[in-house]
Amino acid sequence: MSKVALVTGGTRGIGAAISIAFKNAGYKVAANYGGNDDAAQKFKAEHGIAVFKWDVGDFEACAAGVKDVTGALGPVDVLVNNAGITRDAMLHKMTPEHWREVMRVDLDSLFNMSRHVIDSMRERNFGRIVNISSINGQKGQMGQTNYSAAKAGIIGFTKALAHETAKKGITVNVIAPGYIDTEMVQAVPEKVLEAIIATIPVGRLGKADEIAKMALFLAGDDAAFITGATMTVNGAQHIAG
Ligand code: NDP
Repeated sequence: MSKVALVTGGTRGIGAAISIAFKNAGYKVAANYGGNDDAAQKFKAEHGIAVFKWDVGDFEACAAGVKDVTGALGPVDVLVNNAGITRDAMLHKMTPEHWREVMRVDLDSLFNMSRHVIDSMRERNFGRIVNISSINGQKGQMGQTNYSAAKAGIIGFTKALAHETAKKGITVNVIAPGYIDTEMVQAVPEKVLEAIIATIPVGRLGKADEIAKMALFLAGDDAAFITGATMTVNGAQHIAG
């Protein structure tokens, strides 16, 4: 029987590529999104993937969302915590709102989502949780104390949960993408983007599909011995130890 994959922020950018890769690999896929109904409906019509709207920063909304997905497709076998936002500012200009918004969407969401799938995964002795961090959580990035902190926090969360779930057939891993060609990166001013690409030894931005392939691998049976790991996919821009 097909496994069920739930991808947060699964209707645009990297998340959309992940949703499509899982669908093409035979999974039943639920793509969550936060507010952009037009993009979600377009994605659903183009790819025939079920879309579900809720805010991953809201614990109760995640409970209701996971219940809806389970009712529609079955219990969640694979959770990809991909939804994320940036609110960049130098610390001396950063507001508490910039800080809190990034924390709740990029980090609280891991607790909010994982908490609602973990019991069922433990009962069934199988689960895959893939958390999307960032190169900037590994190396730090000017103007992103909030984002770098949240993305580094994802790595600590993953390591702890991997220990907790290892005996239950559940793996928990991180993918730390480098700069990937999505709307998030296209929003970066052109001159800044040129300067970023000049620091990528491979000489180009990554593709969303290159992250999706890694997520698919981590979800598969062949990755059963990989847990608590951070998979760096960044064209050698930052070689993490
Ligand atoms: P996009 O901005 O293209 O897409 C973000 C997705 O997350 C959208 O589907 C969006 O929904 C959803 N989302 C945002 N806020 C919420 C929320 N509160 N609740 C539910 N869904 C939400 O992002 P990317 O594809 O570029 O990034 C995806 C992930 O990869 C993020 O975690 C990002 O930090 C990480 N990353 C990205 C890199 C890059 O180069 N692009 C590099 C390293 C990491 P909606 O459409 O409704 O807004």
